[in-house]
Amino acid sequence: LMRESYINEKDVGFKQINPTPRPVVIVGGRGQLGGLFNQMLTLSGYRVELLDQQDWDRAEEIVSEAQLVIVSVPIAVTEEVIKRLPKLPDDCILADLTSIKQKPLQAMLDTHSGPVVGLHPMFGPDVGSLAKQLVVVCNGRDADNYQWLLEQIKIWGARIVDAQAKQHDDAMQLVQAMRHFSTFVYGYNLYKENANLDTLLQFSSPIYRLELAMVGRLFAQDAKLYADIIFAQEHSHDAIADYLKRYQEALTLLNSGDRQGFIDTFDEVAQWFGDFAGQFQRESRNMLKSANDSRQ
Ligand code: NAD
Repeated sequence: LMRESYINEKDVGFKQINPTPRPVVIVGGRGQLGGLFNQMLTLSGYRVELLDQQDWDRAEEIVSEAQLVIVSVPIAVTEEVIKRLPKLPDDCILADLTSIKQKPLQAMLDTHSGPVVGLHPMFGPDVGSLAKQLVVVCNGRDADNYQWLLEQIKIWGARIVDAQAKQHDDAMQLVQAMRHFSTFVYGYNLYKENANLDTLLQFSSPIYRLELAMVGRLFAQDAKLYADIIFAQEHSHDAIADYLKRYQEALTLLNSGDRQGFIDTFDEVAQWFGDFAGQFQRESRNMLKSANDSRQ
């Protein structure tokens, strides 16, 4: 019900937290995530202007009155694009939506002396609504001056979580780089094994169907985005190499027929998960139930 009310709001518009005629500029606003923010800001009454690849000759004019500049360009060019920005009004907020936070945040602080905030929307452009979605916020400078932007994002239904940029990037190595990489390998393996997806689906329980869906959906998206997320993280290969090491350890148990070793390791991990294991079981039971109910 909550989701529906937000979806309806998307048709009629949202409350505008900071009514001012000064524009919001989205650098890379013709892209996927920039496009979503353009839509949400426009629906909230803001005047949005775009600064994309072909607009740099007008850049000074475009940002001259800006109250907020949001950078949403591919990770690989983010720092260079931030450095290339013309001088912004002193009170203008400079923000970015990049999936990594330390380097873009530092670049923004170096470039602009006014309010700075790093945002990482933990969702893609295909979400129907921002209800209950998460946005990670890394403070750069002058938090009081960009509070209205966070309030606006909350009006769209999203939750805000504060983090240090380093803490965010470290967590993302596991939450994103390693996870997407292992999902990629899972899909790559299905392809190499020439698995028959129709047959797999016929024999699949709801939980396997959900797992396949999580793998398959990766390949409906842009390879470059995932390449950037995985390759941009300096230490992501450490996290991925660690994962491979664990995989090999587990494979050794299997190869040597060490069933008891497997059970002992399983119990150790279960201990470590503690109360979360039960919580995750209950949560996933509900997810599986609704996934099964909404199956097309
Ligand atoms: P995208 O490729 O769809 O859009 C990028 C836009 O930037 C394009 O319009 C492109 O023309 C423009 N651009 C490229 N170089 C430029 C330049 N030099 N100057 C101005 N504009 C330039 O990418 P996206 O998926 O929207 O991702 C944008 C940012 O959002 C990335 O930093 C990404 O990490 C972050 N992000 C994306 C997602 C997602 O699921 N798409 C989720 C969270 C965060």
